[in-house]
Amino acid sequence: MKLKFLGGCNEVGRSALLVDDKLLIDYGMRPSDPPGVPLGVESTAPESVIVSHAHLDHSGMVPSLMNSGKPPRVYMTSVTRDLTMLLGRDTIRVGKEEGMVFFDEEDIRRMNDCTHPVAYGERIILNSSDYEFELYNAGHIPGSASVYLRKESEDIRLFYTGDIKMDVTRLMESASPADFPPSDVLLIESTYYDREHRNRAEMEREFIDSIRETLDSGGNAIVPCFAVGRTQEMVMVLHSYGLTPYVDGMGLSVFNLFKNYPSFLKDAGAMNDAFDSARFVNSKRRKQVLSEPSVIVTTAGMLNGGPVLYYLKKIREDPKSKVLLTGYQIAGTNGRRLIEEGCVEANGEIVKVSAGVEQYDFSAHAGDSELKRLVSRFCKRGTEVVFMVHGERTGDFAMWTRANFGCEAIAPSNGEEFIIE
Ligand SMILES: [Zn+2]
Repeated sequence: MKLKFLGGCNEVGRSALLVDDKLLIDYGMRPSDPPGVPLGVESTAPESVIVSHAHLDHSGMVPSLMNSGKPPRVYMTSVTRDLTMLLGRDTIRVGKEEGMVFFDEEDIRRMNDCTHPVAYGERIILNSSDYEFELYNAGHIPGSASVYLRKESEDIRLFYTGDIKMDVTRLMESASPADFPPSDVLLIESTYYDREHRNRAEMEREFIDSIRETLDSGGNAIVPCFAVGRTQEMVMVLHSYGLTPYVDGMGLSVFNLFKNYPSFLKDAGAMNDAFDSARFVNSKRRKQVLSEPSVIVTTAGMLNGGPVLYYLKKIREDPKSKVLLTGYQIAGTNGRRLIEEGCVEANGEIVKVSAGVEQYDFSAHAGDSELKRLVSRFCKRGTEVVFMVHGERTGDFAMWTRANFGCEAIAPSNGEEFIIE
């Protein structure tokens, strides 16, 4: 089995793995400015694509593969398919504004035609080849999956965690590693290697206290969130503490989409209740929403575009107002820049932000000890090769794995190829 890493190595973003030159697992886009795309973006013509989940850094470039005489078959859960189409249309809209077009509406339509929706636990045999695969709930966002792939002729098994979470959140049931099959090769995400998550309940209270303090002092609390997953989680958190947020941006469309898939959620009723009491904002009402103390949940989570930039510009010099980041900020994004340099770039303009900035960790990823337990679990059941991907410290994670389990552990580089025998 030949593995070629086209992206997502020593970085978070543009995840893409090519197996035997014909099967792609994920084909993402890094949400930096300009966006990062996988290597070989023009020459990749796979027969099949498996998409782990709908975040742009895993699915964002899949529509670009449809623009060929023989587009690939695409496999993903039904929620991931609908989300990928929604986000794909948004990418087209944003791309037109910024003169960066990777695909068009016709490609999105084709992707829909070429997609075979897959249920968790369903065994899929791929056409014209000797591979079969299954998806497992990855606990990360609705529809997210880990991929178990088997190549019959060489009797090699590969398990790709995708983005994975082993703890329950308000929105999601956790992944269940006890159900994962043994595998010869493991590809594991490394986002939180060497970083432990804080106690969730304690952090929620701190977050809520900070918002209440902002509202009491007459300020606005801006809560930037991914449209997919994080917006719904944060609206549920705020609702459970009796706070009523404004919701601006695509998180509302994603909520409407999630409503159609209650079986992919931990508690669809709780999500619906939280959104029933939230208030929705369109571009005409933004000014009004800021004219009174308010909490605003809005996209984009890493401040790369979206309505959040409007709010940031308005509150940037207001000492009573705050930006409460809700998760990890990828290198190269505006969110990272805000933390490190106290400014963001908005429409070509550098905007200094002197309002308060706080960062919380409402992560949908496994923390350090969960990642290590997962590696341990696989290695003890016969895994011989582990690839660390999707993180900024994959080399250290590989070293830790070698030292503890004596197996081959590799932090691949983008463009690198490996033959597994
Ligand atoms: Zn993700």
